[in-house]
Amino acid sequence: MIQLHQITKSFGSLQVLKGVDLHVSKGEIVSIVGPSGAGKTTLLQIVGTLDRPDDGSVVIDGTDVFSLKQRELSLFRNQHIGFVFQFHQLLPEFSALENVMLPALIAKKNFRKTENEAKELLDFLGLNDRLTHKPNELSGGEKQRVAVARALMNHPSVILADEPSGSLDSKNREELHRLFFDVRNQFNLTIVIVTHDKELSALSDRIITMKDGLVHDS
Ligand code: ADP
Repeated sequence: MIQLHQITKSFGSLQVLKGVDLHVSKGEIVSIVGPSGAGKTTLLQIVGTLDRPDDGSVVIDGTDVFSLKQRELSLFRNQHIGFVFQFHQLLPEFSALENVMLPALIAKKNFRKTENEAKELLDFLGLNDRLTHKPNELSGGEKQRVAVARALMNHPSVILADEPSGSLDSKNREELHRLFFDVRNQFNLTIVIVTHDKELSALSDRIITMKDGLVHDS
């Protein structure tokens, strides 16, 4: 599902990625761990096509993504990749339902169909009684579940999560861990998670450690 070949990336004179090779299979949940500053977020941004490598290739679902033109790349990202961040990044003025619908509406999908799908997703994530709540009326765990619903809205083949449990307490962390597995099993998604959360990484199918700009399977 995801194939990285010899990815390099520097910021000025600092080489952060030094030739990363990585293969992730369809339906796999992979955690990327490693010390702060090891390049984990940079790698995730490149897999998510939010940043370009200096060299090397990223193939997602058979497409060599950086050979696409900018417009096609944005389209590809919208259709194939869902993002979950540490700080959910929900829009405060919109309800849970509206936050989930927004990406699909921006992609000009049909309003009624989008609304029905968003409700189904929120229901699947146990939030059917929170549809009209705004982010500041939701708990941290609920906000993160809304963010997962939003990431699922465009039927991605890959979910990329950067410290998704980083701002949660232990009860909500456990719930989120379970959720990733439910989501993978239900939608047969590939999930890559950057995390310091030992329990979350221990649950994943594979742990990859980043060190000195390279990845090591552990
Ligand atoms: P990690 O996620 O493992 O903590 P990052 O990928 O965030 O590591 O960062 C790796 C290194 O790259 C750090 O030294 C960071 O300061 C540097 N870095 C990341 N993004 C940028 C940027 N946009 N400009 C300059 N330096 C950056």
